[in-house]
Amino acid sequence: MRIGVHVSGAGGLEHIVPKGLELEAEVIQLFISAPQQWRPPAIAEEQAESFREALARAQIPAYFHGVYLVNLAADNDAMLGRSVGSLKQYMRWAGELGVRGTVFHVGSHKGKGFDTYREQILKSMREVLDYADNDAFLIMENNAGQGGGVGTKFSELGEIIRGLDGDSRVRICLDTCHAFAMGYDIATEDGIVIAMEEFDREIGIDRLELVHANDSKMELGGLRDRHENIGDGKIGYDGFRTIMSHPAFRNVPFVLEVPGIEAGGPDLENVRRLKKLREEAGIPPP
Ligand SMILES: [Zn+2]
Ligand SMILES: [Zn+2]
Repeated sequence: MRIGVHVSGAGGLEHIVPKGLELEAEVIQLFISAPQQWRPPAIAEEQAESFREALARAQIPAYFHGVYLVNLAADNDAMLGRSVGSLKQYMRWAGELGVRGTVFHVGSHKGKGFDTYREQILKSMREVLDYADNDAFLIMENNAGQGGGVGTKFSELGEIIRGLDGDSRVRICLDTCHAFAMGYDIATEDGIVIAMEEFDREIGIDRLELVHANDSKMELGGLRDRHENIGDGKIGYDGFRTIMSHPAFRNVPFVLEVPGIEAGGPDLENVRRLKKLREEAGIPPP
C-alpha cells in the first residue's frame, strides 16, 4: 500500500516529482492542464522526456486527474465534444509520460437520471479508449451524490464497465470522502465489509486501482463533497485504520487530496498521519 499526494502543478511539470518526493510520497497524482479550464495540455518533448526520467528515477507510480469540467452526461454536443477531447489528450499524455492512467469524474446528469445518458456515456468512453493506442487506464471516480452525479452508487460504475464489455483498461478510483458522503459507512468494521462486498458484487474488487484518501467534513450520507484532513473529519483516525485494514486495499495506492493543515493542499503532516495509520494496521510500506 503506497501512500502519496496530489501534487499541485504550479511551477510546471518539472517540479512535480521533486515536490512529491519532498512530501515523502510513494505515489503521485497531477494535472497536466488547468483543471477548471478546457485549455489542452501543452507539453514540449524535452519536458515530457525529463518528467519520464524523473519518474523512473523516483520509482513511484503516477496518475493524472482529468479536468473538472469533463461531463460525459452533458446535455449538449459542444460540452460532450470537449469532454471527450480532453480525456483523449490525457490518455495520450499518460502514455507519453509513463503515467498509469487518468482519474476522472464521469459527470452529472443534473437530475435527468443515469439511464437517460447511459448510451452516451458508453459511446464516449469507447471513443476515448479506441483513440488511446497505449495501455493507460481510464479510471472512473465514485461521486459524492450531489447534483445528479454519475457513479454515486457502485452499481452505476459496474453497469458502465459491463457496457464496455469489461475493457481491462477501465478501472475505479474510490474516494473515501465521496463514498462516506454518499452513505457508504466505510468508517466502521461492519460498514466497510458491507461496502466492499457491494463493490465486489457490482464492479469486481480487481478493478480497484487507487483510493483518494480524504476525510469528510460532512456526516455519513451528507451528500456533499467536502474534504477534510486525515483524522480531523467524520471518518476519523479509527475510520481510516478500519479502511486500511480491509484486505481489498492491501495493494492499492492511497492518494491524498486533503486541504492541508495550512490549507495549501496535501502536506507532509497528512502523509505522516496516513503512514502512521498504515503502520498501526500492520501493513508494510512498499
Ligand atoms: Zn477524489
Ligand atoms: Zn471530492
